[in-house]
Amino acid sequence: MKGERGGFRQLRREHVFQELVHDSYKSSHKLHEPTRCPECGAVFHKGRWTWGAAPAGAHEEKCPACHRIHDKFPVGYVTLKGEFFREHREQILELVKNHEAKEKAEHPLQRIMRIEDTQDGVLVTTTDTHLARDIAEALYHAHKGELEFHYNKADNLLRANWSR
Ligand SMILES: [Zn+2]
Repeated sequence: MKGERGGFRQLRREHVFQELVHDSYKSSHKLHEPTRCPECGAVFHKGRWTWGAAPAGAHEEKCPACHRIHDKFPVGYVTLKGEFFREHREQILELVKNHEAKEKAEHPLQRIMRIEDTQDGVLVTTTDTHLARDIAEALYHAHKGELEFHYNKADNLLRANWSR
């Protein structure tokens, strides 16, 4: 299980926090301030994206989260599996969605992209690695089980597998 596969490296839980970097997807140039995302209304101000009213004359440019949603290109993947999960599926997915709502209220770029069924469970994809990590941690804290992280630093992609 150890080693590299597709550029992914298994990370110990305590290391995940140090490794994740901030997303600079499709923003190779420095954004003007303030900039407003025409899709979701988030505002880039003082170096970060927040919710709030944009001042008149703000620049318009899609935020990284909306770019990713548009391109169907998530960075966070959380798989949920196991018998316990199947038996408590609705309740667990509720926890996942509540967690997203709480994070998104503070951090506009942290969103769930899709919740889809897989052969043996559910895959939750996110616009941000931090949200994927936090969802997986929240599941682990609430229900224990098995949790592992795989991180591809070159592309800043995080996979978290939770099963119980
Ligand atoms: Zn946006």
